[in-house]
Amino acid sequence: MEEVVVVIVGAGPSGLATTACLTLFSIPNIILEREDCSSCLWKKRAYDRLKLHLAKKFCHLPFMPHPSTTPTFISRKAFIKYMDDYASNFKLSPNNVRSVESATYNDVMKRWHIEANQKEVYVAEFLVVATGENSEGYIPKLTGLSSFRGEVIHSSEYKSGLKYHEKEVLVVGCGNSGMEIAFDLASHAHFVQDPVNWMQFHVLNKEMVYLGMFLLKYLPISVVEDPLIIFLANFKYGDLTKYGIIRPEKGPFYLKAATGRSAVIDVGTVKKIKVGQIQVFPAISSIKEDGIMFDKGKMHQFDAILFATGYKSTANNWLKMKHMHANGEASNVEASMGLEHGGGGGFKQQELWAAWGRSKSSNTLEEKGIACMGADRNIVASTGLWHICSQFVSHWTCLKVIEIEEVHAISLPDAVQAAATACSIRSMDYIYCLNNDGMPKNTFPNHWKGENGLYCVGLSRRGLFGVSMDVKAIASDIQMVINGKE
Ligand SMILES: Cc1cc2nc3c(=O)[nH]c(=O)nc-3n(C[C@H](O)[C@H](O)[C@H](O)COP(=O)(O)OP(=O)(O)OC[C@H]3O[C@@H](n4cnc5c(N)ncnc54)[C@H](O)[C@@H]3O)c2cc1C
Repeated sequence: MEEVVVVIVGAGPSGLATTACLTLFSIPNIILEREDCSSCLWKKRAYDRLKLHLAKKFCHLPFMPHPSTTPTFISRKAFIKYMDDYASNFKLSPNNVRSVESATYNDVMKRWHIEANQKEVYVAEFLVVATGENSEGYIPKLTGLSSFRGEVIHSSEYKSGLKYHEKEVLVVGCGNSGMEIAFDLASHAHFVQDPVNWMQFHVLNKEMVYLGMFLLKYLPISVVEDPLIIFLANFKYGDLTKYGIIRPEKGPFYLKAATGRSAVIDVGTVKKIKVGQIQVFPAISSIKEDGIMFDKGKMHQFDAILFATGYKSTANNWLKMKHMHANGEASNVEASMGLEHGGGGGFKQQELWAAWGRSKSSNTLEEKGIACMGADRNIVASTGLWHICSQFVSHWTCLKVIEIEEVHAISLPDAVQAAATACSIRSMDYIYCLNNDGMPKNTFPNHWKGENGLYCVGLSRRGLFGVSMDVKAIASDIQMVINGKE
């Protein structure tokens, strides 16, 4: 077991910048990284022709701006070099090949217990989640996908179009990755593109984005967006409706700030769509062994389907709770209480509520972090579960309702076991900072700080620019907490 003040999970740009800042503040910390290298998204899971979409002045980490000799838009290779230089300049040495499997808060000891590789245990006062918005590729569930005989890949596995020479490839998804990979493939493959249901997006080029971001420092969004950037985009690209691309009503910078959705930064794809080198198909209705059926009854055969359908954060899978009772006994059950089919004879929300009222004062159960999973969204507990619930009245904020089978017929030990089993699936320490999607619970700019010394960095959908902001806020906050105790 290793004790340290701060454990950072993930050695991408977020984790490296956090350790650099904490080290400058002389705060002891370590990074745990599941892969065998740092910045592995850029080294292993990005395609060859990738260039940073944003200008270099928005893509550096704290204390190390890019030199004036670096081009405005940096290639993937140059960015990897920058990240490696950052690590060696600040003498950063992440602990690689340490996959964090669980992190639980012990509210008796007031410490986080972090477990990696099934056997290593780390204990820390502060835990920083730096595992990224792109932890795992997301592929939507589509009817018939498992029967497709061709290749199915996610954009994170794509390197270049060379492998697809003369092949028919369907790219699903029209975000930045989908559009750029489509462009790359078009030089090799016979290629089509399917916009699924993301047809409403802005298309800009990187110079327009740069200009907009620069002007937004000095001018309001209403002056920059409509009159200028959208005018330039319309002038360059014209009306793209007939190619299935519709410009949303709200502007690109407004949408980025309000929803996190980026405009598509065109690398030449629109031109290839206009000349028919890339076809735009309607949404997929089903997938067959050797082809795809699109809406409007169109069928087409493909050799491969490439999903550029985004990523998901996985932090809520490993952030768990192992609760300590007041008597010091550890238990796995208290994070969640289950009820789904708890109908007849069970306790109703009002009764739980009344019990809560006797123990502490609160207005709503939800305020205390209690979720109800019953189909009718009623909190309904069996007698067995009620016994468990009542044990945890003093730890009420830990209580969460999850699904277990037939709770009304269950004995207390079985209910404990069922809740414990369910806990391992639906654990919930992430509620101190994150929502069910592993993304920040609080909205920007208050997203980075949770409770009990839990922080998240790089999850604000603001790229490397957002990473820098988070890191500075987190390092200062940890320093303040530590100084406050001295
Ligand atoms: C194709 C692509 C292009 C992009 N282009 C830009 C751009 O131009 N500009 C920009 O600002 N942003 C861009 N981004 C966003 C980019 O991901 C981030 O800006 C940056 O990589 C975020 O760094 P991060 O450290 O938060 O996440 P990541 O780089 O994803 O790093 C997270 C790290 O956590 C590790 N990890 C995950 N789970 C565990 C675990 N359980 N235990 C231990 N380690 C774990 C991962 O292995 C990884 O090393 C792009 C993203 C993609 C996918």
